[in-house]
Amino acid sequence: MPAPHRHEAGRVEAGDLENRVGVQMIRERGIDVEDLIDKLVAATASEWGTYYYYTILRMHLAGHEDYKEIAEDARLEDRSHFELMTPRIYELGGEIHNDMQAFVEQASCPDPKLPEDPTAEKILLVLLEAERCAIRSWQEICDITAGKDLRTHALAARILQEEIEHEAWFMELLNFERNGTSLPSGHFKRAYPGQAPISHNRGT
Ligand code: ZN
Ligand code: FE
Repeated sequence: MPAPHRHEAGRVEAGDLENRVGVQMIRERGIDVEDLIDKLVAATASEWGTYYYYTILRMHLAGHEDYKEIAEDARLEDRSHFELMTPRIYELGGEIHNDMQAFVEQASCPDPKLPEDPTAEKILLVLLEAERCAIRSWQEICDITAGKDLRTHALAARILQEEIEHEAWFMELLNFERNGTSLPSGHFKRAYPGQAPISHNRGT
């Protein structure tokens, strides 16, 4: 008898459009898929929120054009985090809310709103705390998915890397505003948002 193709068939029937092998596999490895989807939606809604509110925060940094540029890097990277994770939510069988207001209410982080009497120091504090909330959100997702849901983990880890960088950027700037001293973050100009700083192809 010819050897069977070992993975030709599994629990999901051929042609089944209700069940996904990519979901079945991670369930078998102990992922609570519904809970993971909820956490992904919450973290992704926060990315959407930071993208939106950073637009406003950035506009109030006039006179600090260097801060503006760094806020812009964070803003565009957060937008790409929204875009990176949204397809993954759908692959898992989830969705983002058809009503945007309902979507943003699911966010894992508070809205990083423009503070009253918005000085650079106050704005940088809002930016910093938004980044810290994002780190907590993505770290939790990395913890849940480690060794089990490799695809979500890879995407969340990419996002987490950038959020950790964002925290360092805003710590540096807030420290400078507050104390006038240096707390280097290692921020270098990105050739494009999301560009890993280890890239050897840093253009302009
Ligand atoms: Zn982000
Ligand atoms: Fe961020």
